[in-house]
Amino acid sequence: MNTKDVIYGLRTKNGLSQDELAEKVFVTRQAVSRWENGETVPNTETLKRLSELFNVSINTLLGSPQKLICQCCGMPLEDEIIGRNQDGSLNEQYCKWCYADGTYTYSDMDELIDVCVKHMVNDNFTEEQARAYMKQKLPQLDYWKRYEELSDNGEFEEFKKKLIAEINDLHIEGMPELKTLTALVGGYVNLEYTLPGGQKVKFLNDGTTYLGNQLESELGGDRCFGVLANMNFILVCTYEAEGANPELILYKKR
Ligand SMILES: [Zn+2]
Repeated sequence: MNTKDVIYGLRTKNGLSQDELAEKVFVTRQAVSRWENGETVPNTETLKRLSELFNVSINTLLGSPQKLICQCCGMPLEDEIIGRNQDGSLNEQYCKWCYADGTYTYSDMDELIDVCVKHMVNDNFTEEQARAYMKQKLPQLDYWKRYEELSDNGEFEEFKKKLIAEINDLHIEGMPELKTLTALVGGYVNLEYTLPGGQKVKFLNDGTTYLGNQLESELGGDRCFGVLANMNFILVCTYEAEGANPELILYKKR
């Protein structure tokens, strides 16, 4: 199928006239007519609107030129199982189990493999085969490749241990001993702090992966500790539920 047939099919299936569709996606009826005649294809902005209107991926609107697979678990992506961003739009990189409402679900590859393998076992595929297949396949996917950037050729665990020791050596009042660090995507932990002068600052890059954890305060109360770190820095803060009213306790270069 190409774009013209896809758009015609979606429009008629949804009982819309060319005029009605045009109005919904802010174009002229002539534009819709030209798409359906195959003279033009919608521009990027309009493709996004059509995707939201019809609840299908842009890949589908373009006639499925790419075979989409989830960049975290490797599952082929049909429109019904594509993950969604926080604003409800589709994220064509991930399935809805690996990326739900703007949040990545898996930070541990072995944990993901355990979950997937259970669904893959059948008469022709033993658990062992499924596991071997996933172990070979997942590191090639974009999500896990980005993790590797931090991992430093398998010395990742060593690095984590060292970092945990360094953080515990800071002896921050009220913060319990840190035992683990997990990978976190910057966009979801990039809190905005208010400086004494009133300026607002953020310290992280939304697209970078960091190591972090959340710990309950030993002193009780409704604030918990957040720890974030990477090769270059250690950041400790406290905040209320959902990251509200964050306060910076410490930012230290390594
Ligand atoms: Zn997935």
